[in-house]
Amino acid sequence: MNSIQLSNRLKKVCSYVKEDAVIADIGSDHAYLPCYLVLNNKVNKAIAGEVVRGPYESALRNVKKNGLQEHVSVRLANGLFAIEPSDDVDTVIIAGMGGTLISTILDKGIALLGNVSRLILQPNLHAQAIRQWAVENKWKIVAEDILNEDDKIYEIVVLEKGSEVYNELELLVGPFLISSKNDAFIEKWTRETNEWRRVLKSLENAEETMAIKSKKEQLITNLALIGKVLST
Ligand code: SAM
Repeated sequence: MNSIQLSNRLKKVCSYVKEDAVIADIGSDHAYLPCYLVLNNKVNKAIAGEVVRGPYESALRNVKKNGLQEHVSVRLANGLFAIEPSDDVDTVIIAGMGGTLISTILDKGIALLGNVSRLILQPNLHAQAIRQWAVENKWKIVAEDILNEDDKIYEIVVLEKGSEVYNELELLVGPFLISSKNDAFIEKWTRETNEWRRVLKSLENAEETMAIKSKKEQLITNLALIGKVLST
């Protein structure tokens, strides 16, 4: 993969970036995504944030290789602290991490989201943590996507400021995804429910501590919720 040949997953993430947005890609790794957006004339200015030195240096090299130093600023920083107020960033992208880590990054840097109007988040797992974070912090879901690439299933959750109420099922599977129910969605939840059944079975013979009891109850509730979705 290079700046021009992006994975389908990251291309899909890019499709939610508005023309001429000023973006910060947090956890940018090689900075493929910001380079791609600039090279394809979708954005003119981007920040690539990385907390680990190796990927940070790789991002610097890539930006230089593509001659994009005027357009992509690479910063070694933890989470949203890569953003400076004078950047006028309006769109934050965080892709390729767990939903819980993405929520923690958003929490820690929440003060830096003042001028940001769109969050494009691509959790590799536990998207529910992001939907929960959105509700608690007055962001609403404006779009969602789910895709299968190389037999891995990825979700994308796009947030804008605003309040919205979601029920338990919507928080778990996504209000937009549930209404489209594409093949990747069915595949994801079929795999997930198979795994839950396996865990439930393995807990049958375990000593029933409070924690085990509560885990079992959660699994049974979730299986019932998803069971209805998959059967209709
Ligand atoms: N965003 C790219 C993608 O979707 O392909 C790279 C994903 S890679 C699996 C996750 C990257 O996030 C790693 O390069 C890691 O160093 C970086 N990362 C993890 N926690 C971070 C944080 N708190 N702040 C900035 N970068 C972080």
